[in-house]
Amino acid sequence: MFGPKSHLTSRNNHLFMEDVDCFLLARQLGTPLYVTSEKRLRQNIRAYHQAFPKADKYFAVKANGNLTILRIAAQEGMGADVFSAGELSIARNVGIPQDMILYNGNSKSEKDHEMALQAGVRMSVDSREELEHLAGTVQRLDQDHEAEILFRVNPDVSPKTHPKIATGLRSSKFGIPAEQVAETYKRAMDLPGILPVGLHCHIGSQILDTAPFAEAAGKMMDIAAAVVGAGGEIKRIDLGGGLGIQYHPDTPAPSPADLAKAVLPIFGDRCRDLGISPKLILEPGRSIVADTTIMLSGVNVVKRAHVNFVAEDAGFNVLARPMLYDSYHHIIVANKSDEPAAEPYTVVGPICETGDILAKDRQLPKLERGDVLAFLDAGGYGFSMASQYNGQPRPAEILVSGDKADVTRRAEDASALLAGQKIPERLYWQIE
Ligand SMILES: *Cc1c(COP(=O)(O)O)cnc(C)c1O
Repeated sequence: MFGPKSHLTSRNNHLFMEDVDCFLLARQLGTPLYVTSEKRLRQNIRAYHQAFPKADKYFAVKANGNLTILRIAAQEGMGADVFSAGELSIARNVGIPQDMILYNGNSKSEKDHEMALQAGVRMSVDSREELEHLAGTVQRLDQDHEAEILFRVNPDVSPKTHPKIATGLRSSKFGIPAEQVAETYKRAMDLPGILPVGLHCHIGSQILDTAPFAEAAGKMMDIAAAVVGAGGEIKRIDLGGGLGIQYHPDTPAPSPADLAKAVLPIFGDRCRDLGISPKLILEPGRSIVADTTIMLSGVNVVKRAHVNFVAEDAGFNVLARPMLYDSYHHIIVANKSDEPAAEPYTVVGPICETGDILAKDRQLPKLERGDVLAFLDAGGYGFSMASQYNGQPRPAEILVSGDKADVTRRAEDASALLAGQKIPERLYWQIE
């Protein structure tokens, strides 16, 4: 019923994830709720292994920082792409080996460098300027091993995605301009304590066409050739993440196998020409987790105004993507999953902002208070972007496996809103 999403089915008018009734789960645990299928997660990772048997795959932790999900990714042999000291600690916490972690970032502090060096993970260096800052910290720490680095390259390709998630354009804030890379690589080779081992790029996210990946692979190999020509050694080429997923029933996405078909021949041929055999690395985030997870939310009010508003209990505080990127999340009514669409609804959350709209003009079965909406494909940039805005504690996360449903992160309560805050004592006088 839900296309390729075999973990979701409709049984007797109720949405099931694996063998769990999503409506009953919402009733038992309350909404909003993020619910993930373990089976789907493992399938998605295995599809990458099958398509790229020789590549290392680093899960992009920013897409989903749930420890249980990362633990499963680690069990399935994934490393981690981390973008902050916090994400590094998440990756280390689930047992991902340091050799399988890449510490990224375009704005690392001295403390970030120190942290990465002490953890012994590779870093992706984003600029010539950062290289010099890092060199200073390496000198000061005086470790007994060299710090291995990759260079984040700006390959200047247009991935035809939402402008806010295109990262490989010439104008983007990320990476070193292609023409500066060979020279910067040489400079790194001369710096004591630093060992440049390869090149890294990431051209954007939610990319639905494999052509930009092929173009980026070609450009990366051009840059690799320049580095080799300047006497550098390339042991790793990291092509980043960005493979899109099918959010809308009418916009299919390429599979990891399609990506492999577009990229591997270029990578293989050009490596052979250059006489190098670097390790290929990929950093998928969304295409690993997005479709594993639904977000369940409860309907509070159906208001007949100039349009039909469905006000439910999750707004952009829970799922930010529609507001941030105008993104589409398909909706199934968890307790009316066999019913035909009856009328259009504009689905809004509880946040005190006009822009708090999760779906516009959506054809859905006739809705009423107490219904539960399932927003599909909420596993990537879903919970990880959730906030406490408007005094809203963040929701729970659940892992489903067969007929089991485990809470992997409990819902916050109001105490989470008070945590860490302190009123200065001088303000303790009694309010009349
Ligand atoms: C965000 C990000 C990724 C993951 O992108 P997806 O579109 O989720 O696959 C990979 N690498 C880097 C450097 C990133 O910033």
